[in-house]
Amino acid sequence: MQPGTAGRFLKMNSTVLAILNESKNRLQAAGVDRPELAAEILAADAFNCPRLELALRLHEKLASARAVAIEQGIRRLEKHEPIQYVLGKTDFMGHVLKCDRRALIPRPETEELVESILGFEPLWQADAPAIIDIGTGNGCIIITLALRKKNGKYIALDSSAGAIALAEENARRHGVAHAIKFITADLAGWRAPRGLDAVAANPPYVRTADFHDLEKNVRLWEPRAALDGGADGLRVIRPLVKKSYEILKPGGFLFMEIGFDQWPQVRQLLAASGFSRSAARPDCSGHDRLITAVKPAQNAARRRTTKKKA
Ligand code: GLN
Repeated sequence: MQPGTAGRFLKMNSTVLAILNESKNRLQAAGVDRPELAAEILAADAFNCPRLELALRLHEKLASARAVAIEQGIRRLEKHEPIQYVLGKTDFMGHVLKCDRRALIPRPETEELVESILGFEPLWQADAPAIIDIGTGNGCIIITLALRKKNGKYIALDSSAGAIALAEENARRHGVAHAIKFITADLAGWRAPRGLDAVAANPPYVRTADFHDLEKNVRLWEPRAALDGGADGLRVIRPLVKKSYEILKPGGFLFMEIGFDQWPQVRQLLAASGFSRSAARPDCSGHDRLITAVKPAQNAARRRTTKKKA
């Protein structure tokens, strides 16, 4: 037997159709979600062609190197590893980003959050807006923002050095690394700059009890630190809201993704920290999860204090 072929389940000279069927059956037997889709995505990646094009190539025989690549991928998927980690990449708002176990896989809700930031004109009126992404992960949020206005001043913060390395690599690939300062630090101990125009964050917010109910591909493979928000899911959000208020300039904005049922509590936290005009937009599933809050402008804050004294 040739090296690397031990226990191969795809036969030599198989057609694309046979490989898709075999892959699907194996993934189905392993209890993988949407096995047909996963098999097709993997095969399309090995072929370096769009998934729909596979339909035109069903009777083509697959070169053995490609079959080996598919087989290795199937073996990883059988262990419930997310397909984005297997492929080593994901798409975020049309940008291809490197993706691996060092960071959470970006979700569609986070694309919605970024979409709302990109469309938030008051922020982009500044010549060089200063924006921090707290808990940047693979950098999806800050990179997309930096691509919108390359001469902004961006900071990417994460407590994981691995995530920061990944985010930096992604920023380099997209030509915006020069605009972003990468910092590995815990929010609590970090001496943050002041006067920022905006904070963006997708913090961990899953309650610890719910973490154990997450799908296997999430629970077993994605970094727990990026998901687990403690007993009430607000362990990170609480200090994040406070810190954001401190580091924002008067009139600055906080944009944040939260859990599907956390808005009533988060609204209170925001108000208690001094934020005004906080609002939640529903995500694609109708949950109030995409938060915008404003730190009152200086004169408004002063007016309030004066009133209190009077
Ligand atoms: N939306 C993610 C999930 O449910 C959680 C992301 C997060 O905690 N920031 O898997």
